Amino acid sequence: PLLPGSLVNGRPALLGVLGGGQLGRMFVHAAQSLGYETVVLDPDPASPAGMVSHRQIVANYDDPSALAELHASAHAITTEFENVPAEALASLALQRPVAPAAEAVAIAQDRVREKAHFVRSAQSSGVAPAPYAVIDSEEDLSKVPEDLLPGILKTARLGYDGKGQARVSSRQELAAAWRAAGSVTCVLEKLLPLALECSVIVARGRDGQVASLPVQRNLHRNGILAVTEVYEGSLPEDLASRAQQATRQIANDLQYVGVLCVEFFVLQDGSLVVNEMAPRPHNSGHYSVDACDCSQFELQVRALTGLPLPAPRQHSATIMLNLLGDLWFDASGNSRTLPWEQVLAIEGAHLHLYGKLEARHGRKMGHLTMTGASAADVRASALQAAALLG
Ligand code: ADP
Ligand code: MG
Repeated sequence: PLLPGSLVNGRPALLGVLGGGQLGRMFVHAAQSLGYETVVLDPDPASPAGMVSHRQIVANYDDPSALAELHASAHAITTEFENVPAEALASLALQRPVAPAAEAVAIAQDRVREKAHFVRSAQSSGVAPAPYAVIDSEEDLSKVPEDLLPGILKTARLGYDGKGQARVSSRQELAAAWRAAGSVTCVLEKLLPLALECSVIVARGRDGQVASLPVQRNLHRNGILAVTEVYEGSLPEDLASRAQQATRQIANDLQYVGVLCVEFFVLQDGSLVVNEMAPRPHNSGHYSVDACDCSQFELQVRALTGLPLPAPRQHSATIMLNLLGDLWFDASGNSRTLPWEQVLAIEGAHLHLYGKLEARHGRKMGHLTMTGASAADVRASALQAAALLG
């Protein structure tokens, strides 16, 4: 392990992260609190993580000289988003511990490979993905089974927050949507009757030990996560343990090292369906910073450096509210000041702003985690906060 407080050439060990967004920023916070120094690679000189890191390399993720610099300086390297070129991770891994591995990231960034992996893990866990077909050509369009419609067409690569998706209810709509997406490789998934959505975050070490956070119940608005709730009774007990079991299986089958989040659907008949995974901490796990004794970001640091991964204990009921840029504007589109004094007067309110200099509609500016002694307490305070924010 790369021990906290150990000096390398007279300096604390340096942890590198590919990507400078809010996930990288919170990784940096966790790494620094354990005494590590950090270096962030991101093309934006004012990136949320770069602004709090000891060092930042301002360059693209596939810039060879930037990767060489990262390689030469960082003692272990992780990523905060899945669309880094997997080759960049693979080349870095030749001489440095890198977690997650390039291969796992390559699978997670491609819905076709991701679904194939889920189908494989389902043989042991019993939790399968939605019925789907891969669409790679005009010919594939005509072969799509009728019972996949109505469905959702998703580009295989680069989709997030509902982007790169289209709902289609007929073959004509499907063909039009596929062409509108640029005729790139897509998956068509059957549209399922969702009762609710949840996600599970695990951290897996090089020795195969796995720590799991409690199961998160998630509410999306316009394809973007809006609210995460984690408290006793937020999900049926048996469902939570099945989702955790399936997530462990998926991580083990990948020989995964690092933090992994798996999203699930719960259908109206109570059955569980696996949706997608992220090879990194996840927006739905932000509550763990304030409501658990070990956060998803500390788990990421620990998995990367080879430290122990004890099971995190949740000590407070919690509701996380995402703060999108929309809140920074009033009804007529003028920018407004948010009532933080009133919000922060509510007991158990924890505000996290990511230091982004410009608010835009749909942009994740921060989040507010409410904690309380009970589900009823935290529900009441989350309602109060939501009413103030409007
Ligand atoms: P993203 O990468 O944008 O998060 P997802 O595949 O998670 O893409 O889809 C975004 C949201 O769209 C999901 O959280 C869910 O609400 C809805 N959705 C996606 N696939 C299906 C489906 N097969 N049936 C019903 N709803 C779906
Ligand atoms: Mg999703």
